[in-house]
Formats: sequence, structure tokens, C-alpha cells
Amino acid sequence: MSFPLWPKGGVKNNSIPLHNKLHLESTEIDLRESLKGILDGTDNTPQRGHWVILRRMNRNQRCECWNKVGTGDSIYDEDNRKYDEPLENCPLCDGSGYTYNDELHITRRRLVSPVIGMSNQERETPIGIMNVAYVVYYFKHNVSPHREDKIIEIENNAYGKPVLPPIHTEQYNISVVEPLRDQLGRIEYWRASVKAEVI
Ligand SMILES: [Zn+2]
Repeated sequence: MSFPLWPKGGVKNNSIPLHNKLHLESTEIDLRESLKGILDGTDNTPQRGHWVILRRMNRNQRCECWNKVGTGDSIYDEDNRKYDEPLENCPLCDGSGYTYNDELHITRRRLVSPVIGMSNQERETPIGIMNVAYVVYYFKHNVSPHREDKIIEIENNAYGKPVLPPIHTEQYNISVVEPLRDQLGRIEYWRASVKAEVI
């Protein structure tokens, strides 16, 4: 028995396709959805994220306090030019010297402690050798945090919402940002590491 090379009526396609799209979609893990479910909660699970401020530093816009030069009688009092620095207690930029935008984001954090004895992971402090811990924050795929942005912990109320106006509790500088990519390079979530400086 042989199959005709050119079957009459065309090739009948009634076999199970090798790549069943529906099947794939139902079994593959969607990390975006998973993280959203963890942070926001779902119909059957509680919200597990908390709200923080992501302070996006505007690196190409100095604050007006940068190198402020006094005028009139205070020309010598306020001349900071030789130090090339911002005003330490500037109410606008909080002493960072740059303008910024604050955004509220829901996140989840965890402490990452390096294994004791790993080189460069420890530092000397007045009270001895310290094991430097990092705090890792997880953000949704559309957040795109940047290195040197700041994360500010704020008070959340009993319903899991931020207290407004925000009450700042801790502030961290982001040192490492890493997008986690999965299928076709799609960004599934962001991981931002900050040094835990609270001793
Ligand atoms: Zn300023």
C-alpha cells in the first residue's frame, strides 16, 4: 500500500498539531500574572505586597541648590561653587542635588545575606567585621527602576494601602537592577537590590 503523492482534495489536516497553542498557553507559567497575584492578591488569595515610594532621580536636571551662589550681601556666605555640591538640607532635593519624581509602587522585599566568609562581602565597622546584607525588592514588569534611584519605605495602613500623605520610614539607594526575562525575552518582573545600611 502506498500513499498518493498528490492526494485528491488536498492534504487532510485532522491530526493533533505538534505545537498546540491552546495547550501551551494553559500549562506555561505566566510570571507577570503570578507576581501580580502575589503583590495585589487575587479572588482567593490576599495581597502580599506593600507600598513604597520609588524616587526616580532625574540625572540630567540639577536642583536649583547646586553650586548656589549668593547674591548681594550674602555673595560670600552662599558660594558653594568651589565644592561642587548641593545644599545639604535642601527642602527640594533632600540634599541629593538632582530633581526627582516620586511614584507609589507595590512591591515585596526580602533580605539577602551573603554566606559568611565570602570575599568582599564583609566590611570592617567600628564594632567588628560585618556581614553586609542586601535587601531585594521585586517590582512588576512595567516599573523599570533605575540604578541610583531610591526606594523609600512608607507606612501602610491596615487595609494594605499607603498612608497619604506618605510617612517615610527608611530610605535606600538602589545599587543593582536586574530585569527578569522569560519567553521571547519578555520582561516578567524587576529585581532591585539595595544595601541594608541599618546596623
Ligand atoms: Zn536642592
